[in-house]
Amino acid sequence: MTEFDIVIVGGGIAGASLGAEVAGQRRTLIIESETQCGYHATGRSAAFWLESYGGPDVALLTAASRDFLERPAPDFADRGFLHARGAVHVSDGDWPEVPPGVGARRLDRAELEQLVPGIRPRWTRALIEPGCADIDVAGLHAAFLRQFRRAGGTVATDSRLTEARRESGGWRIALADGSSLRAAVVVDAAGAWADPVADACGVRPLGIAPKRRTMVQLRVGRSGLKELPLVDDSAGSFYFKGEGDCSVWLSPHDEIATDPCDAAPEEIDIATAIDRFEGAVDWPVERVERSWAGLRSFAPDRLPVYGFDPDVPGFFWCAGQGGFGIQTSPAAAKLAAAALLGEAPDPIVSQIDPTVFAPHRFTLSPQLDDHTS
Ligand SMILES: Cc1cc2nc3c(=O)[nH]c(=O)nc-3n(C[C@H](O)[C@H](O)[C@H](O)COP(=O)(O)OP(=O)(O)OC[C@H]3O[C@@H](n4cnc5c(N)ncnc54)[C@H](O)[C@@H]3O)c2cc1C
Repeated sequence: MTEFDIVIVGGGIAGASLGAEVAGQRRTLIIESETQCGYHATGRSAAFWLESYGGPDVALLTAASRDFLERPAPDFADRGFLHARGAVHVSDGDWPEVPPGVGARRLDRAELEQLVPGIRPRWTRALIEPGCADIDVAGLHAAFLRQFRRAGGTVATDSRLTEARRESGGWRIALADGSSLRAAVVVDAAGAWADPVADACGVRPLGIAPKRRTMVQLRVGRSGLKELPLVDDSAGSFYFKGEGDCSVWLSPHDEIATDPCDAAPEEIDIATAIDRFEGAVDWPVERVERSWAGLRSFAPDRLPVYGFDPDVPGFFWCAGQGGFGIQTSPAAAKLAAAALLGEAPDPIVSQIDPTVFAPHRFTLSPQLDDHTS
C-alpha cells in the first residue's frame, strides 16, 4: 500500500497552496475527486483581491498576501498575479465602512459619476478603495500546483476519499476506485465537502456550510467598461466589475444554503441580479452572455479554519475559506503550513495570531459561555 506523510484531500486553491508549502519537507499527495483540480469553487470565483472583504481578521491574511501576489519569487512565476482595478463601495444610506488600516476615501458626487458614469441618483454616498485588484486565479492555482510537483509532491485526480480510519498511529484511506493509501496526516481541504470528508474520517464536523453564489456576464449598451472599478452595494445586494468593453461580471451577492454539489445558477438569481443592476446604473441590459455559480463555504463564525482537530490526532483542517480563499491563499498557506509542520511561521504571517483560525475555538466557546452565564 502506498505510504505518504501527508494526504491533502482537495486540489483547489486551498489544497494546492498548502501542498506547495509542505511538499519539500514531507512526502505529500493531493487527492482530487474530479478529473481536474480547480473544478469547483476555485474555478468559479469573481477573481478579485479586496482588502476590506471578510472583516478585520481576514483582512490581515489578505494584506499579508499582497506582496506575494504582486511580486512573486522568480522561481514561482515570471510575473505578478494582480491587475489594478479599484473598488467603489456605494450606499443609499449610511457611509460605507472598511476595517481599520484599509486604504479608502470618500468620493463626492462628481468623482462618483466620473468613475461610474450612469450611476443612479439614489446612491448618495460612496467610498473608493484604490487597492482592489483582479487576480489571475488560473495562473496562481497552476503556479501553486507547479511548485508542489517540483518540490516532490504528487497529484492524483479522479481520486475521491470515501473513508479513512485510524490504524497504527496513522490513517488508512479508502478511495472510490477501491484502492487504499496510508498517511500519517490527513488534511481536509475539501471546500464545500469539508464536513462530509471529516465525517468520513470519523471526525466531528464543524458546521462548515456551503452557500451558492451566482455570477452573470452581462452585455450592456455602453462601452469603455473593461477597466470599470468593482462597484458594490455596501449593504450587500450586488456587485459588478468591468469585463469586456461592453460587458460586466455581475453578482446579486446571493448566499443560498445548499448541500455540496456541482453548483449551477438558477433563473431567479440571474433575474434578481439584473434587476439590482438596473437599479444601480442606467445602462441598457442587452443579454446574458454566460452565467455560473459556485459554493462559498463558511464556518459558523465565518472565519477560515486552519489547524489540527482537537479530538482526533492527525486530522488537519484547511477549510471555510468563504469568499476570500483566493486572495488570502499565499498567507493562509504559510500560516497553515507552520501549524501542520510544527514550525515557526514565515515572516509574512508572523504577526498574525494563528489561534484565531484554530479549530479548537469551536470547542472552547461553549465552555467560555458556561463561565459567563
Ligand atoms: C461566485 C464566487 C465568487 C468568488 N469570488 C472570490 C474572489 O473574488 N476572491 C476570492 O479570494 N475568493 C472568491 N471566492 C471564494 C473562493 O473561490 C474560495 O474561497 C476558494 O476557491 C476555496 O478553495 P478550496 O480549495 O477550499 O475549494 P475548492 O476549489 O472547491 O476545492 C475543494 C476540492 O475538494 C475536492 N473534494 C471534495 N471532496 C473530496 C473527496 N472526498 N476526495 C477528494 N477530493 C475531494 C473537490 O472536488 C474540490 O475540487 C468566490 C467563490 C465563488 C463561488
